[in-house]
Amino acid sequence: MREQTMPRSIAVLGATGSVGRQSLEVARRHNIKVELLTAARRVSDAEALCREFSPRVAVMADRGAADALRLALADTDVRVYGGDEAICEAILDSSAEVTVNAILGEAGLAPTLAAVKKGGRLALSNKESLVVAGEIVMAEAKKSRCEIIPVDSEHSAIFQCLHAGDAREVRRIFLTASGGPFRGYTPERLRSVTLAETLAHPTWQMGAKITVDSATLMNKGFEVIEAVRLFDVEASQIEVVVHPESIIHSAVEYIDGATIAQMSTPDMRLCVQYALSYPSRAEGLTPPLDLFKLSRLTFERPDTETFPLLALAFSAASDGGAVPAALNAANEVAVAAFLREQIPFHRIAEVVSDVVSRLSGAASASTLEGILESDREARRLANSIL
Ligand code: NDP
Repeated sequence: MREQTMPRSIAVLGATGSVGRQSLEVARRHNIKVELLTAARRVSDAEALCREFSPRVAVMADRGAADALRLALADTDVRVYGGDEAICEAILDSSAEVTVNAILGEAGLAPTLAAVKKGGRLALSNKESLVVAGEIVMAEAKKSRCEIIPVDSEHSAIFQCLHAGDAREVRRIFLTASGGPFRGYTPERLRSVTLAETLAHPTWQMGAKITVDSATLMNKGFEVIEAVRLFDVEASQIEVVVHPESIIHSAVEYIDGATIAQMSTPDMRLCVQYALSYPSRAEGLTPPLDLFKLSRLTFERPDTETFPLLALAFSAASDGGAVPAALNAANEVAVAAFLREQIPFHRIAEVVSDVVSRLSGAASASTLEGILESDREARRLANSIL
């Protein structure tokens, strides 16, 4: 039996970011109490959010930023803490019914593990948690009975489509991709693209790092790994489909030949809201689709020669162990260098491929410590190559 499950209170990790802010829009729309709010360094943004949402606790990953925020909020009741461990402690201590993890990058892994340990529901946007240590995260969630509901739009779509049948009846998952701003480019043409062109995503407004990952198709590769872990399917069951209109957010093909797709206007607020309200739906902020205005929907195969990071992610998903973690770590370093305009766009894939091929023993790592060691090693290697 379905129930209305919009939570009374939530914790928003990465509240000052793109998904974090959209989560707060959903909270505002439904009068949901924000118990805990975290960020890293953007003090004035965090201050404004604390003044509006009055969380019991706010944590800044950066201790200096926490000191500044504490001072700025001296006239309020918000308790401010600083440091990475403080984020995990605050999650464990919080009484929020749902934790939304919208932290960027591998920094989101420890908070995911804390939320999983706490149990209850985790609305997971931080895909790196599942890319880096997905096997461990899912095993721990099973033990603590933590319900992980995906926020990433494609995974939210797949999650919704999976309700149309039984897991054993799934034949294939179609993971859709917009193709990014450089769809149709040749490898030669990619050599001269600029940072501004890379950051101009055709359909989604997102943070800078994920926008770059969308342009290299690394983001799609991470989503393949995320889907393998989250839905316990083989990488070979996943078919990436370039769908530039970003209306179908993914689809599931069943053994009887039925394909169930989820469609909507591209809007992360819908994904966050569904992760909060599931199994119910609630009125929200997303304008409905006008099917009469959709002139056509198109689909293409991805070009893995021009965008080799997608193919690399498929093999990393099958290799398992610390290979996906190394892939993610090398990519974080290379993308940061690209955003600083230290390397050109096409070097991102070269650096990442080079690091992953050199870390050949990573597939055998099975513990969190082993995975984190490979992550550090991949970062060292990537920096030395740069
Ligand atoms: P943003 O860069 O916009 O925001 C990141 C948030 O995380 C900010 O609040 C930031 O704080 C905080 N943060 C950054 N570094 C750290 C750290 N070391 N420790 C703790 N907090 C930190 O990212 P997005 O919102 O774009 O993405 C968040 C996650 O959601 C990513 O995993 C991304 O892949 C995923 N995602 C994003 C989508 C989107 O539309 N943006 C779509 C689907 C998935 P501060 O502002 O203070 O620096």
